[in-house]
Formats: sequence, structure tokens, C-alpha cells
Amino acid sequence: MHRTKGEAILLRTRPLGEADRLVTLLHPGRGLVRLVAKSARRSKKRFLGSLESFTRLEVEFLEFPTGELGRLESAAVIAAFPRLRRELAALAQAAYACELAELVGRAGEPNAPLFEWLALFLHTVDARGPRADHLRVYELGLLDRSGFGPPLCACAACGKALDLGARPAFDTARGGALCPECSGPASRSVSLGTLRTLEASRDAGSQLSPRVGFSRQAISESRRLLGDFLDYHLERRPRSKEFLEQVCPEVC
Ligand SMILES: [Zn+2]
Repeated sequence: MHRTKGEAILLRTRPLGEADRLVTLLHPGRGLVRLVAKSARRSKKRFLGSLESFTRLEVEFLEFPTGELGRLESAAVIAAFPRLRRELAALAQAAYACELAELVGRAGEPNAPLFEWLALFLHTVDARGPRADHLRVYELGLLDRSGFGPPLCACAACGKALDLGARPAFDTARGGALCPECSGPASRSVSLGTLRTLEASRDAGSQLSPRVGFSRQAISESRRLLGDFLDYHLERRPRSKEFLEQVCPEVC
């Protein structure tokens, strides 16, 4: 039996039987954790209303070596992110961000940078409202924190720097940006400005606000480019993406 205490983000929750809930947490040291919250449905007092999705919690849980489902012992809210409960676009972005983290997270594998990145995104959406540029920076940072981040300012095939004047391309299957000489029929053209805007947001490290503002072209090109890249690397397309695109096309 392994007991863990500390912060976590509640990614997902659903009813389990008549009395319990099944919860999925992202924990910096344990990665993705699926747990039973006993009597969470029967007794309102048991978890004091803390088991809402997309909430930052202080938790204590038990995991068992036999493969039996672990048990959530306690949960207290650190940040409830109230804007997500009153603005549909903020909720849709949070749902998408949490599903992406669930798709790249691994059970039992520590990934504190992924946890911190998702926490930063939720705090930013809550404080500043949903924005398309923040979502692009989040997607790129998530790829970087899971080891898939594409090269953007040098050719993924030959390593040459992408210079002004040359029309670069982006090729998901070949791993990132390509110079004109290396690009092929499956590569899609992209402006150097978009690649540089994305690279600058990556340089900002633990900040979500891009240092270089995204132009309209950078927003639309990077949405397509990062969307294709995520679709290629994830085991499935996030279900919440369709919802985000339908209800809030301006911030998807
Ligand atoms: Zn090249």
C-alpha cells in the first residue's frame, strides 16, 4: 500500500455504483491516478463538495500493489476556478486542456512540469478569460513537456536554420518545420512569422502570455499546425475539442 499526500488537479469524475465516484487526478509525482472516492455520492459531507472537475486540490490517497483501484481518502479545494463555472468558453477551454493532459500523462510516472503547466493554464483562464493565443502556447508547452515538441526554427530534416526570404513548410509526419529544399508533397506551407511567434512563446518558459503577440495569421496557422501535430501523436482526438470548436470558435 502506498500513501500519497499533496496537490493534484481533478481531471474527470463520474458516478460509480450507487454511492461512490471514480475520479482521475493528475499528480506531479504519481502522474495519472484513477481512484475511488467512497461514499462521495451518498454523503455530501464526505468530500465537502470538492470533487468537481478542473479543480486544484490538496489530496490524500492510497494505491495498492495488487492493481486494485486506489482510494481517495481526503480532498480539499485549493483553487476552484470560479470563472469556469460561469463562462462556457472558459469551461470548454479548461475541459480541452485537461483532456490533453490526460492523453499525454502516464499512470505512475512523475511529470511535475506537466502538472505545473496545466495548473498555470487553469489559473490563467480563470484570471484573464479564455484566449486563443494562450491555448496555442499551452498546446506547444504540453508537447514540449511530453517530449514531442517539434523544431520550429530549424529544419527537422537537415537542421539548417530557417532564414528570412525562404518559404518554410511544416510536416507533421517528419517531425516539424522543414526548409524549402527538404519539404515534400505532404508538407504544408507556413509563414516564418508564425514559426517565430511560436518559438518566442516557447522561450518564455513558464509564462503563458506570449512575449510576441500573435497576428491573426499566426493564430490560424498555428491552430492548424499544432492541431495536426497533436492528432498525429495522441492515441485519439480529444472529445472536448469538438465541443470547444462548436460552442466557442473564436477561442478554439
Ligand atoms: Zn532541410
